[in-house]
Amino acid sequence: MAEVVLRNVKKIYQSRQKKKKEDVLAVKNLNLTIQDGEFLALLGPSGCGKTTTLRMIVGLESITEGEILIDGKVVNSWNPAQRNVAMAFETYALYTHLTVRENLGLCLKAKNVQPQEIEKQVNHIAEILKITDILNVRPSHLSGGQQQRVSLGRALIRRPSVTMLDEPLSHLDAALRLETRIEIKRIHQRVKGTFIYVTHDQLEALALADRVAVMNFAELQQVGTRKELFEQPANVFVADFVGEPPINLYYQSTLEEQDGELYAVTPQGAYRFQLVPQKRRLLENHQKEKVTLGIRPQHIGLEQKPGYVPLSGKGALFEFLGEYGYLTVHNQGLDLSLLTPADIESHSEQIDIFYDPHKVLLFDSE
Ligand code: ADP
Ligand code: MG
Repeated sequence: MAEVVLRNVKKIYQSRQKKKKEDVLAVKNLNLTIQDGEFLALLGPSGCGKTTTLRMIVGLESITEGEILIDGKVVNSWNPAQRNVAMAFETYALYTHLTVRENLGLCLKAKNVQPQEIEKQVNHIAEILKITDILNVRPSHLSGGQQQRVSLGRALIRRPSVTMLDEPLSHLDAALRLETRIEIKRIHQRVKGTFIYVTHDQLEALALADRVAVMNFAELQQVGTRKELFEQPANVFVADFVGEPPINLYYQSTLEEQDGELYAVTPQGAYRFQLVPQKRRLLENHQKEKVTLGIRPQHIGLEQKPGYVPLSGKGALFEFLGEYGYLTVHNQGLDLSLLTPADIESHSEQIDIFYDPHKVLLFDSE
């Protein structure tokens, strides 16, 4: 087990094209601590620097600036073998001349583990990942999903101090993805090692991780539990990227005071959200300025729960999402979406809805 600390880590790639001199800033001043035994997800859109971050931790990529510490020791100059970090790649990186069994057992063989013990461990991991029937096959004969599971198995069998998985489920179909996700969680609980899990899929990150680190454009946006990211997103990007169905966001909203109450009002006054008194200090900072208003569909409903405030909208669009319904109301061209029970009558008239004023989010206008 091990703690991983990134201190002001920066990565600049020299341009791949010789003619162009533009370098790529792939990771910018990243400060992040992954605790011993923690399951941390690194979440962000494609190209934001997730893989680069893993490659720097494992030692496959040099660090332009900053320090990486594993268990308190700066490892910048250590080679990958010295770091005891294993990584499963999105692009498999399997030995094509070896069978699946040999690919899985290779690192144990290198550690002089007894053949019977290797056999036992390989069979065990193969069973977990449902690849027992392909143990004697070479990678070139396997599907993408199968290769991905072998790659995952090879990282897990090493029992390293730190296990890093780079989009390990991206090539699996939906059912297998869910099954393997649960298996990864179970393996983490069993081995209790430090796991860093890269994904661009927020549902995957939220389902698996103790904490999620959200990145965008080479920069860390926020690190937090799913509750923190959901209820207190640090900025509009996090609010929008994390959570499903997507948050209602209104740029160019204003703050207004009326009869001693504070309101956030969407453009043209389509929706007026009462704010709790704790947000009063915002008025001093933002008076007359524009703000971005956000409220999650989960925090609006058709029922007046205690503390909820009514609001009305016109016209509606209803989608059945299985467990629940997703209702969109319109007002002056602006949509507002909320979650409802799955079995409501479809609405097309003026409708009363209710929101939790504690959950109204405000962000600085960009
Ligand atoms: P992610 O894994 O989040 O999709 P990457 O870490 O792979 O992102 O890439 C981050 C940025 O660095 C991207 O703009 C990508 O094009 C660039 N990049 C990645 N690897 C290299 C490389 N070897 N040379 C130059 N640029 C690279
Ligand atoms: Mg990547």
